[in-house]
This record gives sequence, C-alpha cells and structure tokens, in this order.
Amino acid sequence: MKILWLDINSSYSHSSVALPAIHAQVAHVESWEWCVVRGTINDSPGAIAAAVAEHKPDIIAATFWLFTHQMQIEILSRAVQLLDGVKVICGGPEFLGDNEEFLRHHPFVTAVLRGEGEIAFPMWLENLDNIEDWDLIQGLCYINPEDGSYHDEGIARVAEFASLKYPEESEFFRWDKPFVQLETTRGCFNTCAFCVSGGEKPIRSQSLEQVAARLENIHAHGIKDIRVLDRTFNYDTARALDMLSLFEQYAGEMRFHLEIHPSLLSEQLKEKLATLPAGLLHLEAGIQSLDINVLEECGRRGSLSRSIEGLTFLASLTNVEVHADLIAGLPLYTLEMLAEDVVRLVEIGVDELQIESLKVLPGTQMRRKAQEKGLKYSPLPPYEILSTSAMTPHDIRRAMHISRMVDFYYNSAPWQDITRTLILMVDGFLLDFTRYLEEIMVLDSPLSLERRGVILYEYCQAHCPDFTDDVSFAWIRGGFSLKKGPAGNVRKLKDVDGYIAERDVQMIVINGSPDPSLKYYLFTASDGQYVFGYTTEAHHSAPVFCGLLINP
Ligand code: SF4
Repeated sequence: MKILWLDINSSYSHSSVALPAIHAQVAHVESWEWCVVRGTINDSPGAIAAAVAEHKPDIIAATFWLFTHQMQIEILSRAVQLLDGVKVICGGPEFLGDNEEFLRHHPFVTAVLRGEGEIAFPMWLENLDNIEDWDLIQGLCYINPEDGSYHDEGIARVAEFASLKYPEESEFFRWDKPFVQLETTRGCFNTCAFCVSGGEKPIRSQSLEQVAARLENIHAHGIKDIRVLDRTFNYDTARALDMLSLFEQYAGEMRFHLEIHPSLLSEQLKEKLATLPAGLLHLEAGIQSLDINVLEECGRRGSLSRSIEGLTFLASLTNVEVHADLIAGLPLYTLEMLAEDVVRLVEIGVDELQIESLKVLPGTQMRRKAQEKGLKYSPLPPYEILSTSAMTPHDIRRAMHISRMVDFYYNSAPWQDITRTLILMVDGFLLDFTRYLEEIMVLDSPLSLERRGVILYEYCQAHCPDFTDDVSFAWIRGGFSLKKGPAGNVRKLKDVDGYIAERDVQMIVINGSPDPSLKYYLFTASDGQYVFGYTTEAHHSAPVFCGLLINP
C-alpha cells in the first residue's frame, strides 16, 4: 500500500512535524510504502495535484493548519479526479472542532482524524477495508458511505507520549530547515478559552534523559535554532531548572526558543535565568492582556500581578530576549485598553511585542461560546475576529494597524529606542502616529528600514518637534545615509582636533574610542554638538564612535 503525505506549509522555512512524527512509529511496516509531495501555499494547486497523481498513491494524508486549509482543499479536490479509488484522510488543528459539516461538504475526504495521529492513523491504515472497525479508532470522524451517517470517535490522545519513537528517527524529518521543533511535552495546565491547548489534558512529558538524547542528535546535525514545544516549561521548577542546565551545555552553538509563564517564575528559576549565557534563550512570555477581567473572561488562570512582576524581571535581563504578545478582540478588551497595555509593555521593556487578532479556532471554548460572548468572526480560516461587544470592526482594524506600527518601529532594532521614548513621553503618540501611518497609506505593504526613519522624522517635525534630534540620533546610529533629511544638521569634520582647539571645547566620549583613522562628522543638536566617527568614508555602516563637545 502506498501512502502519500501531502506536506503543504505556509513557507519553505516551515515544515510540519506531523509526517515524521507518525512515520517514525511505523517505518518498520514493510508493506507500507511512504512518499511525500511538498509545497507551499504560494504554489500552483494544479501542479501539486499532478505531482501527487504521478506517485499513484492508495492513500493521501494531509495536515491542515489555518493558513494551509484552503490550499489543501484546492490540491486534494484536483488530485482525487486523477486517482480512481484513492482514499483521503485529513488531520491537524483545523479538525479539533465539529467535523461533520466539513466531511459533508468535501465528499472526496474519506475520514478526518481529530487529535494526535501517532497511534490512531496507523490503526486506520490497518483497518482500511473494515469500516465496521473504524468506530474503535479514537479521534476518527467519517461519513459512512453506505447509509450517510456521521461517525465521530472523539479525540485521539497518545497516553504513552514518552514511549513514542522520536520524529528525528524518520527519514522524512527535515534537517535542512533553519530551525527544528523539539516537542518535549504535550498538553497544558491552563484553560485559556482561545487556545487549542486549553483543553489538552493530561500533561505528558518526556524524561530529561530522552530530551538529552534528542538534543545530542540534533546538535550532531548542526542545527542551531531549537523551538521547544512545551506549553508548561516553567510549571515545574525542578524540571525547568534541569532543562535549562541541559540547554546551557550547548551555549554558543544552539539557541532555544521557549514559552514561559511569567506568573510562575520561582526565585530559583529567576536566579538560574539571570546567570545563563547571553544568546542562549529567546523567551515567549504569554501575556495576552493586562486586564484581569479580560483574562478571567478567557478562563486564563494565574495571578496578573505576578505575571507583570515576572515579565518585568525577564525584561530586565540582558542575557535573554523576551517576546510578549497581546490579543486584540478578546471579550471585554477595548481598543483603549489594548493601547494602554502596549504602553505598559513598552515601559516594562520587552524586546519584542506582538499584537495579534483573536482567532476563534475550531475546538476551542471561545468558539463554542462565541455567540454568548458577542464575538463575530470569519467563518473561513484563519477565523479572525471581526467585531466584539467591546470592539467595532473599525477598532479591530485600528488594533491591527497598531500591531503593524509596533512591528515596523518597536520591533525593529534601529527604531526601538526612539519609539519607546516617543510612546512613553509624547501623550497619545501610539494612536496618533498609527493614524498618521494610516493616512499616508503605508501600513499594508512592506516598508524599508530607511523609509520608516524618514516617515518618523517627518512626523516628529510636524507633531513633536522636540524629538526630531532624537530621531536623527537613531538615524545616524542606525548607519543610514548622512545625506538624507533625517540625519539632521550634520556635516563632515576634516580636522576634529583643530575644531576642538579652535572652539576651546572638550570632547566627552559617549561610546567607542577616538582614533585618527576615523572619518568624523559633526551633528549639531538643540542641546549641543556631537561627533560621530566612522571607519569608512562611505559611512554605509553605523558609527563606531560618538562624543559630545562641551565647554570646559
Ligand atoms: S495560551 Fe498558553 S497557557 Fe493558555 S492554554 Fe494555551 S498553551 Fe496553555
């Protein structure tokens, strides 16, 4: 029997682990031949369907994610036209909800699997021709072709998660991607109504020894970026400490992305985090909202004050990067509250801030209670929120524009400090600047780093002129052209020592060290004169020296 895995991702840098995770369990079954056809959502569905047909599979298996859903349908609906008698099975997060409507609308899909596939999928393969036994397969949903009845076998969970073979053991594991995902735990202790993991119980974990063995293998393949899939990473302090010590052994060679709960940071864990080598960790701190009522409405457990305290601690560390996120469109969450939370997180000093719109996902409590909570959302993937009792469609759109603005400016290294200054010091900057970007219509397309600086400079000139010098500083320090407007009042200094002597001033070093080989430029700001030194005449890179001229 030939099984074809249709592996469609949103881009070439992503790769689903579903295929290697399932294949690793059954690679020894000689009568099952596996093959894969890969693509992205930007490919031609017809071309991929033709590639599928060339393999002449008996089974096509496809995983559906938010952004691959439509493409998978486009491909499958074509492929089945070319393959008589082929059976199609679909799985993935898109099928965590009610699957009857999907199956009735897509009769070419033989069955859908809800939940974890490592045990249930091979069981279905073994019982392919015994439809009377399909009701014994946990998680399987199908329409019986004989009588048209819908069968739904609940959700598949692998009880013995730790005894599964590792995805890396499969020949289909992708070692050629920029990062690998390392799933060490399944399930989550929390009950967030918007999250597919909110109902994922019980928590099941691999032992430290297992994780160590997998890491050794991953390291041997030269992988540098690891995304650790563990929604409960710091739920158990002792395990988290052990895991961090394990990761530390790879400092300088690998970087780990972790999800962390700021409200659950014990003192021991804080001490450990503070001592880890710089660059080892990128932390994703789940925040979602800083309003207690919003969080309670979402069923999210945990103390908000401890969460803010934990996040403040994490943001104070210089050896880890901290990413925080907010979700626009949560019940009770207004645009004003969201804007206040953005300001608060900027004040706390997170390294990266993401504002997402709520996705009302299949299988979540939020989806089940959407009507009761006044949520209107897209019936099509990605099921994004359209309006709530607290946010009009216009508010949602504005929230997404704030998100874009934050991405363009706060999440962008050359502009982060100046954006923080403006958000914290200029009343109403966050919303006013976002409105300005809307007016000049730059939010819906890519914007170069340089263009961002020009726009910010022009905005400050018109609306908060006291800060134009600060933008010029950011521009110069960012290594942008000294010939363009945002560089402000800057000119070349041929003889820096002569200039200093002539005016009888002193130069205080702000950073770097003065060197005769540097090329110097003088920037005259409203509060004084600054000297910037460059290693090249072309000054295409950032200055390596900065000094302030003062009267002695
Ligand atoms: S949002 Fe995070 S904490 Fe909440 S259920 Fe999902 S994984 Fe767990």
